[in-house]
Amino acid sequence: MKRLKVIAFAAATLLCCISLSAKPKVRIVATGGTIAGVSSSSSSSAYTAGQVGIQTLIDAVPQILDLADVSGEQLVNIGSQDMNDEVWLKLAKRVNQLLEEEDYDAVVITHGTDTMEETAYFLNLTVKSDKPVIMAGSMRPSTAISADGPANLYNAVAAAVSPACEGMGVLCCMNNQLLDAKTVIKTHTIDCDTFEGGPSGIIGYVYNGEAHMLQRPMNKHTTESVFDVSGLDKLPQVGIVYGYANASALPMKAFVDAKFDGIVLAGVGDGNFYKDVFEVAVEAQQKGIQIVRSSRCPTGPTCLNSEVDDAKYHFVASLDLNPQKARVLLMLALTRTHDWEKIQEYFMEY
Ligand code: GLU
Repeated sequence: MKRLKVIAFAAATLLCCISLSAKPKVRIVATGGTIAGVSSSSSSSAYTAGQVGIQTLIDAVPQILDLADVSGEQLVNIGSQDMNDEVWLKLAKRVNQLLEEEDYDAVVITHGTDTMEETAYFLNLTVKSDKPVIMAGSMRPSTAISADGPANLYNAVAAAVSPACEGMGVLCCMNNQLLDAKTVIKTHTIDCDTFEGGPSGIIGYVYNGEAHMLQRPMNKHTTESVFDVSGLDKLPQVGIVYGYANASALPMKAFVDAKFDGIVLAGVGDGNFYKDVFEVAVEAQQKGIQIVRSSRCPTGPTCLNSEVDDAKYHFVASLDLNPQKARVLLMLALTRTHDWEKIQEYFMEY
C-alpha cells in the first residue's frame, strides 16, 4: 500500500512538472506578403511577395521554438494587395477554429503590409476569443540585406505568448512595436518604420522577447463584437470613392449602377463631397445604398452632422475610421442591418 502511494505521488509530481514546463501552443497562419518575398538580388525594392512557405519562415527563426511550441500552416500565399473578402472569411473562421476547437493558446498571422491594417480590423471584429492574435509582416523581402521579417516574427511570437496581450484584440507587431487593429495605419511606402497608431500612438512594444503594454484599445472588439461570420460565405459589396478638386461623379455612379450595398467616401477635409458627387450620393442613399462619409486626411475624425447634414440625408459619419477601415465596418454592419442610425451606432462603438 505504502509503495502504491509512493508511485502515485511520483506520477503526480512528474505530471505536474510536465505541465509546468509545457510551452504555450502557438499556430502561425501564413498568408504571404513581403515577409515571404524573394528577390533575385539583395535588393529591398525589386522582389516578388508571397514566395516562401511557412516552414521556411519558421526555420529562419529557430529562436521562436524557445518561446513556444510553434507550428504553422499556409492559408494562402499572396501579396496583400490581392487580399479579398473570400480570404478574410476563410482566415477569420480558421482563427476561431484554432483558438476554440483546436485549443491553441495564440495565433500569429504573417501578412503583407499593404492591407495589414484592414485584415487586422476585420479580424478584430470577427474573432471570438480573448487569446492573443498577433499579425506580423516585413517591409524587406526575406533575401534582402537586413531583412526585418525574422525579428518581426520573433517579436510576434513573444507577444503571442505574453499574458499582457490577452484581451487586447488583434495586434500588429512590426518594428518592435505593437499596434492596435482599430488605429494602426501604414504611413510610409517603403520604410521599415511604416506603421503608426494615429493620435493614440502605439499600444505597446516588444523588447528582449517580452511584450510591454502601454494602453488598452478604446473600442469594442473580439468577444464583445456582435459580428459573426461563421455562417457567411460572402460579404456585402462596398466600394470606396476618392474625393479631390473637380471630382468626377463617374466612380460613384458606377458603384450605384453595379448595385453595390454601400459606398464609402474618402472625402476632402471633414468628409466633404464635390457637388456632383454629392448629388449621386443622395440618390444612392434614397435607393438603399448606404453612404458613409470618411476622409482622405491622414489624421482627425470625420464628424457627424458637420458641414454635411447627415441626419437629413441618412449618411453615416466614419468618425475615427479611415476609408479602408470604414469599408470593413460597413460590410460587417450590412450583414446585420440596413438602418442608418443603427449603422452609425456601430461606428460609435467599434
Ligand atoms: N505588396 C506587398 C504586400 O502587401 C508588399 C508590402 C509588404 O508586405 O511589405 O504583400
